Amino acid sequence: MTTEKHDHANDTTPVTVIGLGLMGQALAGAFLRGGHPTTVWNRTAAKADALVAEGATLAGSVGDAVAASPLVVVCVTDYDAVHGLLDPVGDALAGRTLVNLTSGTSEGARQTAEWAARQGATYLDGGIMAVPQGIGTADAALVYSGPRAAFDRYEPVLANLGATSTHLGEDHALSALHEMAVVGLMWSIMNGFLQGAAMLSAAGVSASAYAPIATLATTTVNEWLPGYARQIDDDAYPPLDATLDTHLAAMEHMVREAEALGVNTELPAFIKDLAERGVAGGHGGNGYPALIEQFRKPRTT
Ligand code: NAP
Repeated sequence: MTTEKHDHANDTTPVTVIGLGLMGQALAGAFLRGGHPTTVWNRTAAKADALVAEGATLAGSVGDAVAASPLVVVCVTDYDAVHGLLDPVGDALAGRTLVNLTSGTSEGARQTAEWAARQGATYLDGGIMAVPQGIGTADAALVYSGPRAAFDRYEPVLANLGATSTHLGEDHALSALHEMAVVGLMWSIMNGFLQGAAMLSAAGVSASAYAPIATLATTTVNEWLPGYARQIDDDAYPPLDATLDTHLAAMEHMVREAEALGVNTELPAFIKDLAERGVAGGHGGNGYPALIEQFRKPRTT
C-alpha cells in the first residue's frame, strides 16, 4: 500500500540518524527541515559539521545516539557496518524502532530483524529509490518492510524523506528484494544505453544526439510494462506487439552490427542467447514476456 505524503508539520518526534555519508547527510537534513529534533553520529565526526550548523545534535557515541530518540535510522555502507556499530549497543535499542536504510540482501534483512527482536527493538527494513539530492523531494520514493504498526506509527516522520512511502508487507525481506529489482532494471537500461552509444560513436554520432531517441525508446517500453506484467502473472504470452521469432531476427542483426563496428558484443550476444533459448523452448510464436521462464530458473546449459 502506498501512502502519499501528508501533513506532518505537527509531528516533532525526535529522530537519530547513524551514518552520515552522502545519503545519511541527506536523510538527517530532511528530518531537520521537517522540524524533528535530530541526533546524528558518524564514524568520521567531521561529516556532521554542516548538520550541526543546521541544528542537529552530534552524539558522543553510538550508544548515546541510540538513546536520544525513539526512532533510530541507520544508513551506512553495508549490513556488516550496521552490525559493527549496533551490536555493541544492542541493549540501548530495547523499546525503540530501528529503520535500516542501508542496502543489502533479503537474507541480511531477515537476520537483522531477528537480531533486533532479540534486543527488544522493533525493526523496519527500508530501501531508498533516490539519490541523495532527491531526498525530501517529489523524486524520492522509499519502501519499507516489517511490522505495519511500526510503519503507521512513524510514517509521518519518514514522509520527510520523499513524496512516496510504501509499506510492502510484514516480511522484512521485501524491501531488499524490491531495491534489487529496481536497481537491476536501472542497470539493464543503462547498459543498453551505453551499448547503443558505443555503436553510434563508431559512426561518429555523439551520445548527446542519441539521448533524445533513447529516451523515446524507454518511454515506449514503460508503456509495455503493465501488459507484460499481466501476461507474466497469467503465464500466458500471446504476442501483443511482435513475436519472439521477430525479435530474434533483429537481435541477429544487432550482433552482426556490433561485430562489424568492432565494439563489445557481450550484451548483444547475451540478449540473443536468451531469445534463442526461449525459441528453443517453444516460444517463437509468443510475445517477449515468455522469456520470464529464462529468468525464473538458473541457467542449466
Ligand atoms: P557513503 O557516502 O560511502 O557513506 C558510507 C557511510 O557508511 C559513511 O557514513 C561511513 O562512515 C559509514 N561506514 C562505512 N563502513 C563503516 C564501518 N565499518 N563502521 C562505521 N561506519 C561505516 O555511502 P552512501 O551513498 O551514503 O550510501 C549509504 C547506503 O545508502 C548504502 O547502503 C547505499 O547503497 C545506500 N543508497 C545510496 C544511494 C546513493 O545514491 N548514494 C541510493 C540508494 C541507496 P565514514 O564517513 O566514517 O566513512
